[in-house]
Amino acid sequence: MPCYRCGARQTDPVRGASPWQRGVRHESQVLICPDCQRLHDLDLDTCSTCGSTALICRLGEVECRSCGAVRMARSSETLGPAPVTAPPGLSAEVEAALNRVLGRA
Ligand SMILES: [Zn+2]
Ligand SMILES: [Zn+2]
Repeated sequence: MPCYRCGARQTDPVRGASPWQRGVRHESQVLICPDCQRLHDLDLDTCSTCGSTALICRLGEVECRSCGAVRMARSSETLGPAPVTAPPGLSAEVEAALNRVLGRA
């Protein structure tokens, strides 16, 4: 995954912690290269509890790595279960069966 801001590619991992920062922006997981981390207009999502930008976004949740607060991602609200609809043709079948039962066929 390249840097979300400048598109730089992460170089081969060196020993120790990666200088690249993980963050969440508009509820999507992003990577920030060491150069862009110095900028102050990164527009990252922040933890509503402690204000940290050290967030992880995963399936419908945003977790703060600083204080552990977890909140639902707003965008997940639109991904609710799909409405259950009867497959096409079923109602006609049911109607025919009812007609048979009722002697109307
Ligand atoms: Zn960058
Ligand atoms: Zn926090």
